[in-house]
Amino acid sequence: MHSPALDLLRRVFGHADFRGEQAAVVSQLVAGGDCLVLMPTGAGKSLCYQVPSMLREGTGIVISPLIALMQDQVEALRQLGVRAACLNSALSGEEASRVESQLLAGELDLLYVAPERLLTDRFLSLLDRSRIALFAIDEAHCVSQWGHDFRPEYRQLDVLHARWPAVPRIALTATADHPTRREIAERLGLQDAPWFVTSFDRPNIRYRVVLKDDARRQLLDFLGDHRGQAGIVYCLSRRKVEETADYLASHGIEALPYHAGLDAGVRAANQRRFIRGEGVVMVATIAFGMGIDKPDVRFVAHLDLPKSVEGYYQETGRAGRDGDPAEAWLCYGLGDVVTLGQMIAQSGAPEERQWVERRKLDALLGYCESTGCRRQLLLAAFGEQHAGNCGNCDNCLDPPRTWDGTVAAQKALSCVYRTGQRFGVTHLVDVLRGADTDRIRQLGHDQLSTYGIGTELDARQWKGVFRQLVALGLLEVDIEGHGSLRLTPDSRAVLRGERPVSLREEVVRRRERVRGRGR
Ligand code: ADP
Ligand code: ZN
Repeated sequence: MHSPALDLLRRVFGHADFRGEQAAVVSQLVAGGDCLVLMPTGAGKSLCYQVPSMLREGTGIVISPLIALMQDQVEALRQLGVRAACLNSALSGEEASRVESQLLAGELDLLYVAPERLLTDRFLSLLDRSRIALFAIDEAHCVSQWGHDFRPEYRQLDVLHARWPAVPRIALTATADHPTRREIAERLGLQDAPWFVTSFDRPNIRYRVVLKDDARRQLLDFLGDHRGQAGIVYCLSRRKVEETADYLASHGIEALPYHAGLDAGVRAANQRRFIRGEGVVMVATIAFGMGIDKPDVRFVAHLDLPKSVEGYYQETGRAGRDGDPAEAWLCYGLGDVVTLGQMIAQSGAPEERQWVERRKLDALLGYCESTGCRRQLLLAAFGEQHAGNCGNCDNCLDPPRTWDGTVAAQKALSCVYRTGQRFGVTHLVDVLRGADTDRIRQLGHDQLSTYGIGTELDARQWKGVFRQLVALGLLEVDIEGHGSLRLTPDSRAVLRGERPVSLREEVVRRRERVRGRGR
């Protein structure tokens, strides 16, 4: 194939060929058509608008919400000899007016601009006097009010089409379930534009979930399989990041902390060491990772539950960019569900928003407790179907055994009910197992009909039953009640014997079998 686009790709960017849908997107824009692009991070979205901006007459206007990434991109483009600039609040008045006159004089191939800047009367009238090659709306999911990155200004970007109907537009995102996709198309007036979608599947990443028992030891065990390799360990809090990094360092692992509370210089130094180093383990909050382009990250471990399946997939997607085998490991327990639930409740967000966050947490819990292929579940979150089992996740490699947990579920649920739906797992398990504790005697729970009816399972097995009942939506965690459990509308059918419950054998034991196999 020989085309001006391919020539440019090779000559300017030094790449041999377009990847995936890039060529199709470029043709669409060069021909003057609109389009929507859904590709995972690292797939190469930028080229989709950079190449057409250079091929079409005028300047490509790129709307991007992230000033830091904007500046990196402009810098990288300039090094390739592309005439690129940006306009944002970090620029002085003098610098800004120089960029403006370059735009008017037609001396720019690409201009990156923050949405709030774009929407000013001054900039819009500047555009009226310029030649525009195209509009690229990056991080288009920012139009969605329900997403994490909602930007009110994105809602006003329909002005672009109203004012310049003949200029092609491209909206790009890496994060879009079906409702968000619909919202992007509607809000930006791109309902008739075609979607170009690249598969989100990362077949070289192996997904594994383990049940939290002694998290640090489990992590150390996991790292034992990854000696000398670079990886990221995500924790929820800054304090835990530091404690974990110290702990790993004291066990001879080259681990560095990274979180927003660290001095900027320390952060930059740690990031450099991670990127340049051979086997550095970065222990971080989710503040770390955006824009990190390190191909040989061999694992991403989560010591705490992430906030959503989508977020989890993005974070694990930082592993194995080079295509070599990599591992995504998640260690979770019911305590995480309580913590995250509390964070949502205390966020001060409007009730509807909290509701959405709780559903996301439920979906994640469903992922953790699933007995099916993990990859199918992950990809489903991006509206993608994976044909059959992937053969590269713990559940595919070692299918979990299930057992008929109907009677156990009935005992657990009625124990919740009899104790007034006011207690957490530990106490409930004590009651079921007929433990002789002061608390039980004081509360008179040794007089209940459910006292001591569950001696056939040990405490850990009962905890597993409760956790899975939460994941199945048969119990819910009462956040105001400090993690006490209460029944849900669905519990009744189980208690009445109308609904069987299939439970999974505990993950802790299964982990040993997975490891045994690989050896
Ligand atoms: P995204 O915005 O989708 O996260 P980027 O546009 O930042 O991805 O591209 C990710 C990386 O892939 C960059 O290092 C880029 O140079 C590289 N890349 C993009 N397209 C190609 C291609 N056709 N051939 C080789 N490398 C490419
Ligand atoms: Zn699988």
